[in-house]
Amino acid sequence: MPLFVHPALTSLIQTLSLPSAILRFGPVQLTSIGPAYQLRHLLDATTPIESLRIVESASLRDLVNHAENKAFRPNKAAPNLVRGWVCQVTTSNELGNALETLLPGGLADWFAASQTGFKSLDFRTFAGRQSGMYRTVDSLSDPDACEVTRACCHSRFCSRRRLWTVGKSETDSVLEKSDVPCLEPCALLLELARRAHRLNQQERSTVTLSEGDLATLAAAINIAVAHTDPTLPEGDLSDSGHPRRLMLLREKLLPWLPATTLSVEG
Ligand code: SF4
Repeated sequence: MPLFVHPALTSLIQTLSLPSAILRFGPVQLTSIGPAYQLRHLLDATTPIESLRIVESASLRDLVNHAENKAFRPNKAAPNLVRGWVCQVTTSNELGNALETLLPGGLADWFAASQTGFKSLDFRTFAGRQSGMYRTVDSLSDPDACEVTRACCHSRFCSRRRLWTVGKSETDSVLEKSDVPCLEPCALLLELARRAHRLNQQERSTVTLSEGDLATLAAAINIAVAHTDPTLPEGDLSDSGHPRRLMLLREKLLPWLPATTLSVEG
């Protein structure tokens, strides 16, 4: 009896069979090499294969849970996946398992977004469905929700290509992120939105800063984001030094500074 292959996997394999096809599957590059499929970190795309460590598909699970700096990776689409490895699989079953290990749900979302008539869930509909401590998220204005989205979904933190929008905001591009879409706001986005709403409720102070002081503040944010404490849990946004909160502050400064001043390496 022929082996059943899920339509999503069949579609992916067809895409990979096109000449020179390269899929950016979250933080992973996926290619078809002869009868095999090859997976490696996107940032190792041009590294000679001899310089990479061969990893069996059964051992991929050991790679995904912690970043190089030992920080736990709750979001498997984060670009901080360990580098320096390559994995080759030959069967569709092995390929499906490898992809599910590296980015759970990624293949299903990729397939769903490729279907005719597909529509992602926009922020406002998503926020309107929240209850309990998250019901306040719907009170964020569109500009505030856009700031939260840019901060939370920055390519530095997540390789999923955001297809949902806030009002008429832009979606993410494949080149900026990857082929794997994000179909609706995730738990991290929801929590940052809740924090943003609470911060907006707090009493405000007026501080006058010169352009030079603002540039120094921008530089401090960039340094802090680049040197995050690896023991800080990604899901705990209560810490004011959390990189996503720093990026939210950066978003608030943007109107006063040229974007180049605040460029943060992705
Ligand atoms: S909401 Fe943003 S951070 Fe969360 S999975 Fe989607 S793109 Fe990534």
